[in-house]
Amino acid sequence: MISKNLREEVHNCIKCGICLTPCPVYKQRLVEVASPRGKVQLIRNIMEGNLELSENFVRILFTCLLCETCTVNCPSGLKVDQLMKAMRVKVIEKFGLPGKKKFLFELLTGKRLLPFYLFWGRVLRNNLLPLFPVKGKVGTIPLKKFPRLNRQPFLKKIPEVISVPEPKGRVLYFTGCATNYLDGEIGRATIEILVRLGVEVIVPKDQMCCGLPIFLAGAPKMALPNILKNVALFNRWDVDVVVVECATCGAALKKEYPHFLKEMGEKTEEAMALSQKVLDISQYLMKFDLGKMLKPIKGKVTYHDPCHLLRSQGVKDEPRALLRQIPELDFVEMAEADVCCGGGGTFQWEHPRISENITAQKIESIEKTKANFVATGCPGCRLQIFGNLKKDGVEVIHPVQLIFRSLSG
Ligand code: SF4
Ligand code: SF4
Repeated sequence: MISKNLREEVHNCIKCGICLTPCPVYKQRLVEVASPRGKVQLIRNIMEGNLELSENFVRILFTCLLCETCTVNCPSGLKVDQLMKAMRVKVIEKFGLPGKKKFLFELLTGKRLLPFYLFWGRVLRNNLLPLFPVKGKVGTIPLKKFPRLNRQPFLKKIPEVISVPEPKGRVLYFTGCATNYLDGEIGRATIEILVRLGVEVIVPKDQMCCGLPIFLAGAPKMALPNILKNVALFNRWDVDVVVVECATCGAALKKEYPHFLKEMGEKTEEAMALSQKVLDISQYLMKFDLGKMLKPIKGKVTYHDPCHLLRSQGVKDEPRALLRQIPELDFVEMAEADVCCGGGGTFQWEHPRISENITAQKIESIEKTKANFVATGCPGCRLQIFGNLKKDGVEVIHPVQLIFRSLSG
């Protein structure tokens, strides 16, 4: 699964070390094996047959947030994250997926009975957990701070087509698992805003988990059916755009699907066509003149850049511009807003101590702003930031929720 290009590219590393200091993991560990350069050199030596694939190497390879900071800083243009993703596939082929990940991914791909586990998850989280003084944590997140599960999956609660009279646009909406199972409020806000702007919204009911977490864990064969199904459902000529409000799903549909399918030897034309139509919800909303429709919200908001939105999709200004439009809401930039929050999908439960230290710096930056809202467009970042915030009274929220609140007055 390591393409010829990547194999050749690995020799472009000039070992300059520019990728070291911006890497959040290296900053914590200060050892060469934790650095992007160190990982690239290990990969190169494995490719050249000088080193064996070992379990120790697997640990090193997975001690990475895949935040792409190394890639955007590399003067040689080396796609460090792509190289590490490809290597993950190779090591998982040899060593297999760890049990917890396998179970989670089987749920997301429908190989296990998701409704059964969701039912018991809801009973435990929504009904039993609040009754006991639970102190446990999953990774860095206290159990008490885990979000409640939606009573019903969001996709089941809404019609497939939400029509408007004389539509000004027509979009497909990819909801993602977080909105579908955990945070239906974000889906409701997204649809309500679009409808008020006069946009017809189509929400394909059979859409699947985007597959990116599975792919990034090195199990592409497991993710493939989800990806093929999503491409078939969303590559439609009769809509203007495909809107996504989850940074990770957006990165999957916009950037990762085409090259992923290419690596898997599948056709890429449809995925390429789809990727051209994908917009983060903040990009789409900026096409409208929302400003005059918004009513004041008193308070201060700061914004955290999700890696999958900023570095994977290049979306930086639009969420900020949207938030700045809300009357009386004071926007304040936090220090190092673009640095990874330390969540990294499953990274936070695989490496809780490193993750906690990275997140502590993010929390410090947030607290210095004295903001009462932290806006960010990634469910993983929201969970990580909310789970580690020490102060009460700070709301961690998706930008569309604030826009919807402002629209509703
Ligand atoms: S910045 Fe690029 S070229 Fe320099 S050490 Fe890192 S990976 Fe190699
Ligand atoms: S992807 Fe992020 S965490 Fe991983 S090596 Fe690169 S900079 Fe470090």
